[in-house]
Amino acid sequence: MEHFLEVVLPIPLEKLFTYRISRQEADFIEPGMRVAVPFGKSKIYTALAYRVHAEAPTAYEPKEIYQILDEKPLVNPFQMKHWEWIANYYMCTLGEVIRSALPSAFLLESETLVLPNKQADVDEMELADDEFLVYEALQYQTALKIEEISNIVDKKNVLSLVNRLVQKGVVLQKEEIYEQYKPKMVRYVKLSDKYDDEGELEALLNELSRAPKQSQVVLSLFQLKSKSNKPIPISDLEKESGGSRAIIKALIDKDILSEYSIREDRVKHGEASETSKNIVLNEHQAKALEDITVGFLEKKPVLLHGVTSSGKTEVYVKLIQQCIDEGKQALYLLPEIALTSQLINRLRHYFGQKVSVYHSKYSIHERVEVWNNVLHNAEKAQIVIGARSSLFLPFSKLGLVVVDEEHESSFKQFDPAPRYHARDAAIVLASFHGSPIVLGSATPSVESAYNAKTGKYGYASIKYRFGEVLMPEINLVDIKEATRKRRMKGHFSETLLHAIEEALGEGEQVILFQNRRGFAPVVECTTCGHVAQCPNCDVSLTYHQHRNQLRCHYCGYHMALQQACLACGSPTLDKKGFGTEQIQEELGQLFPETKVGRMDLDTTRGKYAYEKIISAFENQEMDILVGTQMVTKGLDFRNVSLVGIMNADSMLNFPDYRAHERSFQMLTQVAGRAGRTQKRGKVLIQTYNPYHQILQQVTTHDYDKMFKEQYYEREQFKYPPVVRIIKVTLKDRDFNKLNEASDWMASSLRNVLGTQILGPEYPPVSRIRRDYLKNILVKIPKSDSLAQTKNSIKRIEKSFNAISKYKSIRLVYNVDHI
Ligand code: ADP
Ligand code: ZN
Ligand code: ZN
Repeated sequence: MEHFLEVVLPIPLEKLFTYRISRQEADFIEPGMRVAVPFGKSKIYTALAYRVHAEAPTAYEPKEIYQILDEKPLVNPFQMKHWEWIANYYMCTLGEVIRSALPSAFLLESETLVLPNKQADVDEMELADDEFLVYEALQYQTALKIEEISNIVDKKNVLSLVNRLVQKGVVLQKEEIYEQYKPKMVRYVKLSDKYDDEGELEALLNELSRAPKQSQVVLSLFQLKSKSNKPIPISDLEKESGGSRAIIKALIDKDILSEYSIREDRVKHGEASETSKNIVLNEHQAKALEDITVGFLEKKPVLLHGVTSSGKTEVYVKLIQQCIDEGKQALYLLPEIALTSQLINRLRHYFGQKVSVYHSKYSIHERVEVWNNVLHNAEKAQIVIGARSSLFLPFSKLGLVVVDEEHESSFKQFDPAPRYHARDAAIVLASFHGSPIVLGSATPSVESAYNAKTGKYGYASIKYRFGEVLMPEINLVDIKEATRKRRMKGHFSETLLHAIEEALGEGEQVILFQNRRGFAPVVECTTCGHVAQCPNCDVSLTYHQHRNQLRCHYCGYHMALQQACLACGSPTLDKKGFGTEQIQEELGQLFPETKVGRMDLDTTRGKYAYEKIISAFENQEMDILVGTQMVTKGLDFRNVSLVGIMNADSMLNFPDYRAHERSFQMLTQVAGRAGRTQKRGKVLIQTYNPYHQILQQVTTHDYDKMFKEQYYEREQFKYPPVVRIIKVTLKDRDFNKLNEASDWMASSLRNVLGTQILGPEYPPVSRIRRDYLKNILVKIPKSDSLAQTKNSIKRIEKSFNAISKYKSIRLVYNVDHI
C-alpha cells in the first residue's frame, strides 16, 4: 500500500497539498506536526500535517516530503478545528490562517534570513559538526539565507538544523532582535506620615535644630513642596538642600523621611504579593459577578457593561481565580498592546509567575516559549494576556476567556487575511472548549449590546465607579462662539486654558486628545488652491514640523516641505487643520515651564516606546500628555484630573455608519481617564456643534439613549446588527479596468443574490499605494444563510477569475467588515 500525507502550506492555496511518505513516516506522523516539504520549482516550506491517507492524488504526481520536524504535534485538534472555522467564516484559506497563527519561528522557509546571536554564550564543543559550520560562517557574515546554509553544509534540507540552532540560541531569525524593557525607577521622598500630626512635626523640628545639615534637608523639602504638589525626586532634594545622599539616607533610616517609587508602590513585580482572595468586591461588583455566573451556567457569552473605573478588572481577577483553581487555562484578550504593561503588573500582583504575555512585539523566542508552555499546560502559562493573536495558542484546557474593551475595532484584523474579529473568534473558540467567556466594556459595541438585549448573551452591569468616585463632569465648549468672540489662543479656548492652569496648579496631570497626528493635515496654496497630495494615494500630505516634512499616512511617502507652491510657485502656503504635534507645540508656548509628552504613532514606533511614555506619565515626569486614540484605551492613571478633547467634530462627521457609535465610545473612554481617584474628574470637549445628539449623550453618560438611536438608524438603513455585511474590495492600478470589473462584479452579485448590494463605490480614500480601490457591500438579512451567500460569492469569483482581462485585479473579502 502507498502512503500519502495531506499538508497545509502556509500560503494562500485553495486546496491542501499531498505528498508521498514511507510506511514508517505514516506510522509516525500525527496531524499538527510540522514537516518540511518542497514546493514549486525550488522552494522549501514548513507545512502542517493534516491527514495521513492512502489515496494518490490524480491531478499531479506527489513529491516526497523532506523531513518531519516535530516529535509531537505542535498544533492540537482544537486549534485545527478553530482555524478551519476562521478560514471558512472569514473567506480565506487555511494556509493564510496558519501563517498568522503560528509564530514565524515555527515556519522557517527558504527565504528566511538567519543572523548570528551576538549575545549568546556559545560553547563550540557542544555543537554538532554541521551546526559548527553554520556558526563559524556567521562569524564572518551578517546574515545567511537558508539556501546558503544548504550550500555550506552541502545538504538539501537544512530546516531542522536551523531549528536546532534557533532552539540553542546560537542564531536568530531576521525579525527577532528585541531588547527587554526595564522601566526607569525614579525614587521619591516625602516626610513620613506620622508628621501629618502637627505636634509630632513641631517636636521633630525642635529636635533637628541641633543637627543643622539634616534640618536644612527637611526645610528644603518644605520649600519644594510649596512650589508644586508633585512628587519630589531624591535627586531634586539633594540639589535644593545642598546636602548629600548620606544625609538624606540617614533621615530615611531614622524614619523621618520615607522613600518610595510610584510605579513600584502601585504593584510589585514578579512574585504575587497578594492573593486574589484578598480582594473584597463591593456590592455592585459582587452582583455583577453573580450575574456573570448565571450567564455561564446558561452556557452563554456574558457582556459585562461596567462604567469606566468601576473595577471590571477585579471582577475578572475573581473569575480567573476560579478558573485556575480548577486547573484550567485562562485567556485575557486586550485590543492593544499599549494596555498590556499596566495589566501585566496588576495580574502578576495576584497570580505571580502564572501570568504569561503573548503579542507580536515580543521576540520570537518569547513567543515560542509561551506557545510551548501553553502546549504543555505549564503553570507558567496558566493565564495568558495577549492581543488578538493569542487566540491561536495551543490551549487544551481552556476554562475562561476574557475579552476586555470588547467594543474596540482593533480586535478586527484588517490586513492581511484572515480578516477575523478576535472577539467573535474567541466566542467560537470558547464554545469549542465548553469554556465560559466574558466580554467587558464601558461602552459596549452596538452588536454586543443588541445580543445581550435579545438574550443571546448573558448580561451584567456595574453603574458606579469603584470607591464612590463620581463619574467625571463633562462640559462642552462651543468654539464657534469662542472664535467669533476671539476667545481662542491657537486651538485652545479660554475655558480649556483656565482648566489646564488650575489642574497644573494643583499638581495634577492633564490628558489632551486630538485624533490626528502630525502638525497639519493639509498644506494649501492660498494663491492657486493647490493642495500637496501623495503621488501614490488619494490623500493630502500631512505636515510634520519636527522633520519639516510632508508625509502620507497611508503609504509612508514623504518629501521635504517646499518654500513655494509646486503648482504656481507662490510662497503662499497655508497649513490647515491641526494634529497632536501642533498641540504639543502650542502648549510649549502657552506653558513654557510644563513638561508635555505626546503619544501617537510617531512617538511609539520604537520597541518599548509605549511603555516608556506610559511609565514616564505615571511617574509624573510629564504634566500633560497629548495623544491620539491611543490615550483613550483603558489606561489607569491616578493623578489625571482633567481631560480635554481638542475637537470632537471630525470624528462625528466621518462618513461611516459607525461614526456616531465610535465617537461616543472614544469620547466616553477618554473622559473615563479623568478623576479615577477621590477628586471628581473634569472633561472639556471643544466643538463647533455643541447640540449634536452624540455629544449630549456623552455629557449625560447616556449609553442607553445612544444605543436606541443608533439601533433605530441601523434598522432604517439596514446595517449591522440588523443585517450582516460582507465587503468586497477590488484593487487595481488601472483605473478603467477597475471600474469595468467592479461593475461586472456588482451586477453578477445582484443577479445571483437576492440581497441588497450597495456599490460599487469609491471609499473615502480611493487610491492607496498606487492601487485604485472600489467597494461593493453585500448586505445579508439575518434570515438568509450566510454560508450559502458565501458559496454564491465564491462561485461568482470563479467566473470572474475566468475572465482573462481581469487577471490583475485583486479581490478582498471582509466578512463582518467594521
Ligand atoms: P475599569 O477596568 O472598570 O475601568 P479598574 O478595574 O481599573 O476599572 O478599577 C478602577 C480602580 O479601582 C483600580 O485602581 C482598582 O484597583 C480599584 N478597585 C476596583 N475594585 C476594587 C476592589 N474591589 N478593591 C480594591 N480596589 C478596587
Ligand atoms: Zn499655488
Ligand atoms: Zn501615500
